[in-house]
Amino acid sequence: MGLLAAVDGRRRLAGNRKFSLTRSGICSYSVLMSNKRKGVPPVMLSEAVRAGALLRIRCICSRVCWYHPADMIRLYGDIPALNLERRMRCEACRANPYVEISNPTAEEMQTIKLRRLDRVWWERRVTWREG
Ligand SMILES: [Zn+2]
Repeated sequence: MGLLAAVDGRRRLAGNRKFSLTRSGICSYSVLMSNKRKGVPPVMLSEAVRAGALLRIRCICSRVCWYHPADMIRLYGDIPALNLERRMRCEACRANPYVEISNPTAEEMQTIKLRRLDRVWWERRVTWREG
């Protein structure tokens, strides 16, 4: 529950050394998620949804996109948020991006363009072989 509390309220983060604030004051898991400490459970996408957090997907090519964790659950199931790094690819350069769970402030929300899932469909493809 410690993880959830961290996404939940920035104020409660102050005394908890496991988490850190970025310079802009956004609470971020990037530090926590990158150090694979024993006993620290992965943050599941469903936890991010419950905490009202968003996913900040950042690429080395400097492309940044914001996603709703519920959309990612529809696509990938309720997996650890960090696993999205392997599953997603940057639309610009095809590299695997970095994932951060973030609670943007009201002001930040004004500047964020949140990408929501529009349509999902399956394509049926066939191949033929001779003989
Ligand atoms: Zn990129």
